[in-house]
Amino acid sequence: MNTIVGVSTAPGIGGIGIIRMSGEDTFKILDKIFVPKHKQEINDIKGYTIKYGNIIENNEIIDEVLVSYFKSPKSYTMENMCEINSHGGNLIIKKILEICLKNGAEMAEPGEFTKRAFLNGRIDLAQAESVIDIINAKSDREAKSGVKQLEGFLSKEIKEIKQNILDVLVNIEVTIDYPEYDTPEVQKKEIKDMLENIGKKLTKLEKSFDNGKIVKDGIKTAIIGKPNAGKSSLLNAILKEDRAIVTDIAGTTRDTIEEYVTINGITLKLIDTAGIRQSNDSVEKIGIEKSIEQANEADLVIAIFDCSKELDKEDLEILKLIENKKSIILLNKSDLKNVLNKENDLLKNKSKNILKISALNKTGLEELYNKITEMFQLNEINLDNEVLITNVRHKNIISKAIESVKLANKAILDNMPIDIISIYIKQILDDLGEITGEVVTEDIINEIFSKFCLGK
Ligand code: GDP
Repeated sequence: MNTIVGVSTAPGIGGIGIIRMSGEDTFKILDKIFVPKHKQEINDIKGYTIKYGNIIENNEIIDEVLVSYFKSPKSYTMENMCEINSHGGNLIIKKILEICLKNGAEMAEPGEFTKRAFLNGRIDLAQAESVIDIINAKSDREAKSGVKQLEGFLSKEIKEIKQNILDVLVNIEVTIDYPEYDTPEVQKKEIKDMLENIGKKLTKLEKSFDNGKIVKDGIKTAIIGKPNAGKSSLLNAILKEDRAIVTDIAGTTRDTIEEYVTINGITLKLIDTAGIRQSNDSVEKIGIEKSIEQANEADLVIAIFDCSKELDKEDLEILKLIENKKSIILLNKSDLKNVLNKENDLLKNKSKNILKISALNKTGLEELYNKITEMFQLNEINLDNEVLITNVRHKNIISKAIESVKLANKAILDNMPIDIISIYIKQILDDLGEITGEVVTEDIINEIFSKFCLGK
């Protein structure tokens, strides 16, 4: 494969910048541009060595650098690789990149280093995908689940399921060739047991996506309430900073604000919606529609009411939005004279989770956090022992595999011949191969890696 070069550090000024090269000609190119203090033949340099020296162009020193050598196959990509640690200015980094390009390297595409690690067989596709999850992690849990996936937890589980299938398939092949080996009845029983077993495992994995999604994307939480109920104040109290504008002029939060916050180790994606009320103002109207949309899309809706006032027509509209949703009703402004209380039937009919808070005085927040933790049974997510599906692509493939299991089962019930049943079983193997990448199209591979950052 050609030799690629990319900048691995983020753009901007920093202490150091890292320019990475990978491919057969890495050391040849390096030889032309790097003058180490102690020159050695490449054959005498061991992998995992760091050398100090200068990057040179036309006999001029461009920068003083440290270069790490990684020799094939012991590198991130399994190819010859080097990492040039230069000073962290944009200009210097760009200059060194250009020198590498001039001397025969080609610009790396986003994620191309990791793609090579996959294509060269060091990691499978699920592991490669976890790299991007680790880079983008917003919480400790998310980072931890990414690292688990990189370690191969999911891949191992998939491999085990595939092995269960293969063991049975081998027997089928033997029987097709030597019919006296086993009776079809014995075989069908064996297949049925296997299908039941892997069906259970796959269903468990599919279910784990509910938790996995929460770990990865956070609980999508919409805070709804009519203007002045205290939505922005609540958001600020949770975020512990003054991000949303708090005013007492009704209808100031016109657009939605999205913020990630970590509570008891779990991420909430908070959406502060515009005040919901009947409005003729066109801008505000868009806001109201958005609120309804957000509430519909949310995993959790927090409906907030001013408990110093009676419920009015607009509040009832808001209560309608939490019907059939996971919801919490907050009676805000508990520091004022309470007119509205938890016993109110209109509220009790809509949600069993009703809490009093004062967003202004920041009281009642602990109870809110505990309620959320309890509702989503987050303590049950045990990242150490459980394989979590966090990636929607994996989830879809597993659902597809479960369908294939059902079809195979049906083929047995329909008394199909063994060789037909085995075609259905092979389909399950193909489905699962899409997760780890043995059975996957180039388009899918390209799409996955295009989401990576440059230099990774
Ligand atoms: P939003 O329109 O729903 O976003 O409401 P805001 O957060 O902008 O709050 C509207 C007004 O109510 C502001 O003057 C806040 O200071 C006030 N407010 C919010 N929460 C409380 C509370 O818990 N107690 C009291 N007394 N006032 C509050």
